Amino acid sequence: MYLMAKKLRQIAIYGKGGIGKSTTTQNLTAGLAESGKKVMVVGCDPKADSTRLLLGGLAQRTVLDTLRDQGEDISLDLIMKDGYKNTKCVESGGPEPGVGCAGRGIITAIGLLERLGAYTKNLDYVFYDVLGDVVCGGFAMPIREGKAKEIYIVASGEMMALYAANNIARGIERYATQGEVRLGGIICNSRNVDRENDLLRAFAKELGTDLTYFIPRDNIVQRAEIRKKTVIEYKPDAQQADEYRALAKKIAENKKFVIPKPMTQERLEEILTEFGLMESSDEYAI
Ligand code: ADP
Ligand code: MG
Repeated sequence: MYLMAKKLRQIAIYGKGGIGKSTTTQNLTAGLAESGKKVMVVGCDPKADSTRLLLGGLAQRTVLDTLRDQGEDISLDLIMKDGYKNTKCVESGGPEPGVGCAGRGIITAIGLLERLGAYTKNLDYVFYDVLGDVVCGGFAMPIREGKAKEIYIVASGEMMALYAANNIARGIERYATQGEVRLGGIICNSRNVDRENDLLRAFAKELGTDLTYFIPRDNIVQRAEIRKKTVIEYKPDAQQADEYRALAKKIAENKKFVIPKPMTQERLEEILTEFGLMESSDEYAI
């Protein structure tokens, strides 16, 4: 029998801290895993909480911690654990607070995963959950090295989330013009801001991309989180579980990948004013 080789999609999720990257990534990968896809999630945040819901809270030693304790000679099972429906879970970790570059963990982790053969042929997706308001240094690693060619930015209708998203788009533009990395879309993780859906649509359009999905805000996310589970595992029949499945489907079927056109600060503020987030007389300094 002839088996067609699968095409691995490597996807980076960027967005401001606290916006919901890890929650969204784990729920959508749970959705993909549920539909039979083979997925690996690589946490690229020194907080190391990118895989907690998939692992049911199982203590995951980070790559950097493992290297520190065990030295270079380690096996894959020490840094990669099986989570919900056989998702492969990795946390890069970070240096001790205040010491060294926080992006170093990502560089080390990806290199080690490659050496230890983690990128197997049967994988459909690798997701990198990356911290940061800007794409710089080590945090640009997944896209700079051509690992992730596809990026989604998580944002909301809150001003700082949009500032961050625009800054991230600026970083992506730089790497995109030099290489193959492209923006796949904006994911709105709702904060219940007025006219949020329209605002995010306008924002995405201005960047030359689409609003991939609008995820409603729902306290079931917290209830699942307390139980260290994704909503998909905790309450598979809940409406919010279907929202994450729908997001997973949108990503799976997405064909639109662009070099983003970041906005000037003035243009971004104009859009925010149009949607009532700023008074036209406001001066905003960051
Ligand atoms: P990040 O990874 O971007 O720092 P997290 O995924 O850790 O952000 O999310 C921050 C908090 O927001 C989490 O504690 C989570 O419970 C909450 N959260 C995320 N998405 C939603 C949502 N759609 N509805 C309600 N709460 C959410
Ligand atoms: Mg996170």
